[in-house]
Amino acid sequence: MIGHTRYPHLFAPLDLGFTRLKNRALMGSMHTGLEEAEGGFERMAAFFAERARGGVGMIITGGFSPNEEGGLGAKLSTPEEAARHRVVTEAVHAVDPQVKICLQILHAGALADTAACVAPSPVKSRIGRFTPNELTEEGIEKQIADFANCAAMAQQAGYDGVEIIGSAGYLISTFLVERTNRRTDRWGGPWENRLRFAQEVVKRVRATVGPNFIVVFRIPAMDMLEGGLAWDEVVSLGKAVEAAGASIISTHFCWHESPVPTIATMVPRAAFASVTGRLRREVGVPVITSNRINMPQVAEDVLSRGDADIVSMARPMLADPELVLKAAQGREDEINTCIACNQACLDHAFDGRQQVTCLVNPRACFETELKYLPTAAPKRIAVVGAGPAGLAYATVAAQRGHRVTLFDAASEIGGQFNLAKRVPGKEEFHETLRYYRKMIEVHGIDLRLNTRVDADALQAGGFDEVIVATGITPRQPQIEGIGHAKVVPYIDAILGRKPIGRRVAIMGAGGIGFDVAELVTHSGPSAAQDIDTFAREWGIDFQNHPRGGVTGVPRQVAAADRTVYLLQRKTDPVGRHLGRTTGWTHRATLSARQVQMVNGVEYLRIDDAGLHTRVHGEPRLFEVDTVIVCAGQTPQRALHDELQARGVKSTLVGGAFEAAELDAKRAINQASRLAAEV
Ligand code: FAD
Ligand code: NAP
Ligand code: SF4
Repeated sequence: MIGHTRYPHLFAPLDLGFTRLKNRALMGSMHTGLEEAEGGFERMAAFFAERARGGVGMIITGGFSPNEEGGLGAKLSTPEEAARHRVVTEAVHAVDPQVKICLQILHAGALADTAACVAPSPVKSRIGRFTPNELTEEGIEKQIADFANCAAMAQQAGYDGVEIIGSAGYLISTFLVERTNRRTDRWGGPWENRLRFAQEVVKRVRATVGPNFIVVFRIPAMDMLEGGLAWDEVVSLGKAVEAAGASIISTHFCWHESPVPTIATMVPRAAFASVTGRLRREVGVPVITSNRINMPQVAEDVLSRGDADIVSMARPMLADPELVLKAAQGREDEINTCIACNQACLDHAFDGRQQVTCLVNPRACFETELKYLPTAAPKRIAVVGAGPAGLAYATVAAQRGHRVTLFDAASEIGGQFNLAKRVPGKEEFHETLRYYRKMIEVHGIDLRLNTRVDADALQAGGFDEVIVATGITPRQPQIEGIGHAKVVPYIDAILGRKPIGRRVAIMGAGGIGFDVAELVTHSGPSAAQDIDTFAREWGIDFQNHPRGGVTGVPRQVAAADRTVYLLQRKTDPVGRHLGRTTGWTHRATLSARQVQMVNGVEYLRIDDAGLHTRVHGEPRLFEVDTVIVCAGQTPQRALHDELQARGVKSTLVGGAFEAAELDAKRAINQASRLAAEV
């Protein structure tokens, strides 16, 4: 296959002695929530089988706790629980016996969701619910035995191996770090003692499962924690777990409390792989790298540089289950790339109320219910608007065999994604547009750009279905002076159609207000495109690797020479409604650039002096040269209303359907589900 020559390292098999991985692509562990859901094992079976069909070499499941006290939800400690996993392992092996599937053993330690949680010392995590119970010597012995038992159960369930997570602030890692391990017995104090628990867990697991079972150990290669692991400790830990019987070491760059983004879209691709490369030169077993590796060429580059033996892609496999297959077949431009937005995966996982899925692929984790089956009755469908909603609808409908004509008034597809992609840190949005451009070609969609369609044209066209995906109109607050020359709508600000002064007030602090603030305060290269800039901005030292990898010196964030006020009417903290796992990164960056965030603002009028307001009831004039309006949107439904008036049936999707709380996640999801049924 073409990809085998284009990506020779990615498609090279890896011999582990007792077994062989067919390629170097790993689907990394992600908690999807299916682990605990009703019928979750059947859904997991379909989810993983689809990824196995998509060509991945090895899969690691979401985390299962070895006992009650280590739990965040799912547990594996009994033969009855093991029996439920059979459907998963059998589904994957039925697709291809060469695909390996390993169960992740996740003992959450101080982060476990139970008052019975345990840790080496009673040190509460900032993000944990409970102060953990300090383990006794017997308690430690029990935890080690439970890890070994969990591995035995995984083996009984038909897994090819286990991954033991020794990082991220979970139990094992809290033994390693002085800040969470205050013990003075043989499990605490000097490094040799802090290391002992990890070593013993691996040793006991290996002794229990025998030599022919994969044991991956996830190591905190750079935990991003002040006072975290020093580099020589990382190396020593790697050597120790290798000696204890680990078959593979997986490098992890995370401690859940750490204030450094490691997977968000503002993190450069493969930013952390060089750290894996350094560790790889110190240990004898194969090493996995991860974080922001979302396309085959990025994986190939990492492997060919010698930075890793295996590349983990977790979210990219949510976004496109066929990523590896498409690479193998030279169809990489058909890959639906993970844009690292976290909106439907991590945000849902942390929120706990919504099923994990993917913004660009709403089928992820819904494989058993959302199916794009070929249609028996092809229709002629007009889709008006080639923003995310129209593109998703057109792609799914055409893929199913319908004949789709896609209209857009603009000269390129993408709708508001053409604005989003201009925001520094959102460069990945280009990939989504590339994907849809390719889908239009692959599925033979009749694309009509520069075509603002009206009801006459649609009626004359004789379509069986009309889909109105015309998006939104930006809201213009009705305040005195809104027509002043210093007022700039966000679209003009982003497209650079109007000059922006040195003193700026941004009216509205939703997602777009934040993006506009990012854009107008930005200076220099985008940190998302430049690892050195990213490292400087977040205080990471890749070269010298101080404890935790972080310098502790204040962040060095370049900023444009502007005074910017980001304003909202609500009295809750500005930015509170941004993404759960990414909002803090945007707030931190804008704060570092001295953007002043003001809530409780009542807008009164705009004039030559600036923006007149009351802030929490007190009069305040923002003396600004420019007021950028980011005050939300209303649906653009004129076409739909006209069609209705003529008795022509049409279906609204995306922003045209509902603009409040609209985002691309909802637009793509709604459109894909409708198109699956037409
Ligand atoms: P739109 O994207 O508005 O597309 C509508 C399309 O219809 C346009 O291309 C328009 O030209 C066309 N059209 C309208 N009328 C006609 C007509 N009569 N004939 C032909 N064509 C017509 N969302 C997220 O989820 N995550 C983000 O990080 C994110 N970042 C954003 C950043 C910015 C700066 C902006 C502006 C938006 C961002 N969004 C984000 C929001 C997201 O882009 C929108 O929710 C999404 O684009 C809505 O999709 P849509 O298809 O409904 O509408
Ligand atoms: P939004 O999140 O709804 O924010 C609109 C802002 O305008 C709010 O701050 C709102 O707060 C203010 N506002 C509303 N009505 C107003 C009025 N009449 N006068 C003055 N201010 C008013 O919408 P958005 O920022 O336009 O973003 C659109 C969608 O794109 C959002 O749903 C968002 O999720 C998505 N998006 C997401 C991201 C991301 O990174 N995930 C980035 C960009 C956009 P107050 O009422 O308190 O003033
Ligand atoms: Fe990637 Fe966003 Fe999909 Fe998560 S929701 S897998 S981050 S594209």
